[in-house]
Amino acid sequence: MLSRVRGTRDIIDSRLMLFAINAITKQMQKYHFKQIITPILEPVALFKRSLGCETDVVSKEMFIVRSSSAEQGSDVAQGDDEICLRPEATASVVRAFIEEGIQTVPWKVFLFGSMFRYERPQKGRYREFYQCSMELIGAHSLAYDAQLISMLDRLFRQSLTLEAYALHLNFLGCPEDRVLFKEQVTVFLEANLAALCETCLKRKDANILRVFDCKSETCQQLYVKAPLLTDCFCEECDIEWCELRHQLEELSVPFVHMPRLVRGLDYYNKTVFEFVSPLLGAQSTFCGGGRYDQLVKNLGAKEDQPSVGAAIGLDRLVLLLEAVQHTLDFTYEPKLFAIVPVSEEQHSLALQVADALIRADVCVDVFFDGSVKNMMRKADKSGAKAVLLLGGDEQKAGTVKVKQMQSGAEETIKQIDIAHYLKNLS
Ligand SMILES: [Zn+2]
Ligand SMILES: [Zn+2]
Repeated sequence: MLSRVRGTRDIIDSRLMLFAINAITKQMQKYHFKQIITPILEPVALFKRSLGCETDVVSKEMFIVRSSSAEQGSDVAQGDDEICLRPEATASVVRAFIEEGIQTVPWKVFLFGSMFRYERPQKGRYREFYQCSMELIGAHSLAYDAQLISMLDRLFRQSLTLEAYALHLNFLGCPEDRVLFKEQVTVFLEANLAALCETCLKRKDANILRVFDCKSETCQQLYVKAPLLTDCFCEECDIEWCELRHQLEELSVPFVHMPRLVRGLDYYNKTVFEFVSPLLGAQSTFCGGGRYDQLVKNLGAKEDQPSVGAAIGLDRLVLLLEAVQHTLDFTYEPKLFAIVPVSEEQHSLALQVADALIRADVCVDVFFDGSVKNMMRKADKSGAKAVLLLGGDEQKAGTVKVKQMQSGAEETIKQIDIAHYLKNLS
């Protein structure tokens, strides 16, 4: 037996996943985002440049892809030509924006797809995971951030009926503020070297703001006394941070200011946020995002395009939906009807009736194999609202016997009227 690759999974019951995808798509369309599709294969260099070589994603978690011919040296994939499975989608969207020469901004797009990271698999964390990524490229005003965050909050609260979650918000200031902040943090860490764990000692030199992500209790106790980024803001950032909070309050979006939230990735500035739920345990973040004002230029565009984006982790979102599935509105799923021909004589008729019903936009399933009793049982299990029985009598009379599954009520209907009859069946 061959089994699936560690950290991947088969989603056999995809009902909640598809419900989430449908609800997200509808919401994104309402806010006039366009759905795009980008490749799963991307150059490694794209993520080295966007995420930074020192991030765990780039240094430890990349799935590098090599073709079997590259092995023999005929199509050498080396250095900057190295290919990987995308670990996230923001950099891909920015690459597409530049490469396709998109002129109209803000470019409001979203995409669904698999992302790949070589991490230790656990509840809510897979090596192949599903995301909806959404970006506004070329969006200067922070009012875009407020609208994006409020759109997500509406989606989770109203469309998906989630309650047990919180929005964590922080403001990282501009690059100048961060230089000042990093200086202050360096001074602080140097004064407390003995108290730092090994990871934090490494991060201090490599990617200093990530020390605040440390899981060690002792480190976190120390960081309570660390300098605050909010104290390093320039006048402009001070005003913007104040305005962002004001706009969210006006839109009735509840949030908690988390002064230590940095989201790990190098490219963020100003707004960063996470939607977290205690129901998810250790992997509590099911949506995260922020502003990235320098990334587009860093990835090769001539002009700066301040941007903002977010990603929803669909695997974790589905875990949350499991708890509230009785409150979800599945009415968009069509009602199913089953057709059961009594004997082989009626197989052709069954095919014709099914064809006519499908053309009339009715959802049907036809059963051909086994006894009538057996087919009826399968029809019941399939969730059909009613069974359409076709026997010799019906064939002769040009009728269909309709048996409703819940009430057991039976009625004989003319074949010609059947689509109309089924559509009006409540
Ligand atoms: Zn600033
Ligand atoms: Zn630490």
